[in-house]
Formats: sequence, C-alpha cells, structure tokens
Amino acid sequence: MKPALFDYTAPETVAEAVATLAADESARPLAGGQSLIPIMNFRLAQPGTLVDLGRVAGLDGITVTESEVRIGAMTRQRTLESHAGANAAHPLIAEVLAHVAHIAIRNRGTVGGSIAHADASAELPCLLLATGGSVCATGPEGERTVAADDLFSFHMTTTLAQTEILTEVRIPRLPPATGWAFEEYARRRGDYALAGVCALVTRGAGGVCTGARLAGCGIADRPVRLTAAEDALRGSTVCEDALMAAGEAAKGHATLPDDLQASQAYRADLLAALVRRAAVRAAERAGG
Ligand SMILES: Cc1cc2nc3c(=O)[nH]c(=O)nc-3n(C[C@H](O)[C@H](O)[C@H](O)COP(=O)(O)OP(=O)(O)OC[C@H]3O[C@@H](n4cnc5c(N)ncnc54)[C@H](O)[C@@H]3O)c2cc1C
Repeated sequence: MKPALFDYTAPETVAEAVATLAADESARPLAGGQSLIPIMNFRLAQPGTLVDLGRVAGLDGITVTESEVRIGAMTRQRTLESHAGANAAHPLIAEVLAHVAHIAIRNRGTVGGSIAHADASAELPCLLLATGGSVCATGPEGERTVAADDLFSFHMTTTLAQTEILTEVRIPRLPPATGWAFEEYARRRGDYALAGVCALVTRGAGGVCTGARLAGCGIADRPVRLTAAEDALRGSTVCEDALMAAGEAAKGHATLPDDLQASQAYRADLLAALVRRAAVRAAERAGG
C-alpha cells in the first residue's frame, strides 16, 4: 500500500519543529523513518504533516561525561553501536544494539526514534529502563527531562506530548563492580524480541549481589522493570537457588496475553530462562 497524502516540512531548528507540531495536531516528527514509514504505508498512521528532523541542527552526536553518555536523538543506532567512548562507558549499549533489526536498518534508524516509538518489544527502551536512563524533550513550554521509569505508558506510547520533540537520550555510566548482559529470543535474527532481558548486577564482598537492575521487553504492553527478580537476586551470591528464584519471580511480569507468536505461559517460561542467563552472565562480569 501507499501512504495517505501528507505535507512535508524540513525545519532547521528545534523551535521551528516544535512550532510546526503545535500548529497541526496530526503532525508527526520523522527521524530515520524505519518504523514510521512502514506504518504509514499500512495506513496505521496518517500524519497530516511530516516534520523531518534530518536537518535540525544539534540533534545528533555523542558526548561522554563523567557520569553519563549523552546521545543526540538523531544519532543513528549504528553510530552509537560503534562509538568507542560510549561503549567503554557502558558496554551494555553495543551488546543491546547488535540485536536491533539488521545493520542496514540501524544505519538509518535513530536512537531517539526507537525510544520515542516505544515498541514494547524493542531493545533500546529496555536498555534505557535497566540503566536508569532518561530523555530530554523540548516542547512549547520549554525543555524537560523525563526518567525512563516515567516515559513508557503503553505499546508504542510514551508520556511525551504530540508537541514535544525528544532531543537527547542519557544513559548513566556503568557503576563500579557491576556486570552487564542482554539476552533475547527472537524467531529469526533481526526480528523483534519474543522476549528480551537487560541485566545489571553489582557485587560486593564475598560476591554478594548488592544491587540488581533488570528490565524486560516483549513480555508486557510496555518495557518493564523486573523488580521481583531484582529482589530475589539482591543479597544472594547469585547462586543456583537465587537464579531459579529470580526466574520464577520474573514470570509475574509477563502479562502479555496469548497472541499469534506465543502463549502467555510460554512467554513467562522464556522470560524466566532469559533472566537466569542474563543474571549469571552479568554476575560473572561483575567478578567476585
Ligand atoms: C524490518 C525491520 C525490523 C526491525 N526490527 C527491530 C528490532 O528488532 N528491534 C527494534 O527495536 N526495532 C526494530 N525495527 C525498528 C527500527 O529500530 C527503527 O529504527 C526504530 O524503531 C525507529 O527509529 P527511526 O529513527 O526510524 O524513527 P521513525 O520511524 O522516523 O519514527 C518512529 C516514531 O517515533 C517518532 N519520533 C521519531 N523521532 C522522534 C523525536 N526525536 N521526538 C519525538 N518523536 C519522534 C515518530 O514521529 C514516529 O512516531 C525494525 C525496523 C524494520 C523496518
């Protein structure tokens, strides 16, 4: 199919882009187009105006500070994946990005576009949640920062207003004594995950887990923190019993009902296995 008719604008500043969005409530930003254009072709989205962010100054680039990695929204996924500084500051970034679609799509798809699109099965929103990241957004009222915990409200829905542009994604540096891992299962390489898990495990004296942050994708109507699994790991030595307990606890987070891809029970079992795999790899990398 072909998309419905639309107008096209290519602003050069964030202020112009925001003004165009504010003037037409059916207007939508266009980033890499890897999700928006297909859903327009299926007529699942019919924006009256496409606001192309491709020429907007200052929306791409990666800065690594003492505390975080700051990624301009229009930074291509592949650029981030191969950025040595970003991946030294947080090696989970590249491990996750290797699972997003295929290289050709990551060459065009943007980091901000994937987060704003907020597909419940997508890997980058899951990464943002697990790392405790945040985004910056600019709208008619000015700029604000939104923590990942407050960003994702439903499948393909965020708490950003239609008039706001996501300008930057911020991922805190990997904390000391912390290991990382991403595990997913997809039917074919490059497909969206049937289920995926990002894990960060911090270990202290005697290898005891002093902190755990886990998030899952593909298992609910949005990416979710796996808090029950985190609780099961914290205080343990990440031994077999603790891993089994974490996997079992995580099952309650798999709330997606049966669909064509899998039953709810299958997804819950899959999630439990992925939690165990991700947690044990993260714990090994944390040392201890
Ligand atoms: C065959 C195929 C397989 C794929 N597989 C995967 C996969 O396995 N995992 C995965 O995560 N993704 C996958 N994708 C999607 C891909 O990662 C997209 O690049 C990404 O989801 C959207 O990024 P984009 O830059 O292309 O955004 P676009 O498609 O341009 O926009 C997506 C949405 O976000 C909004 N938006 C974009 N940028 C902003 C912004 N700065 N501020 C506010 N709103 C904004 C748009 O208005 C639109 O609603 C796949 C895509 C294809 C075509």
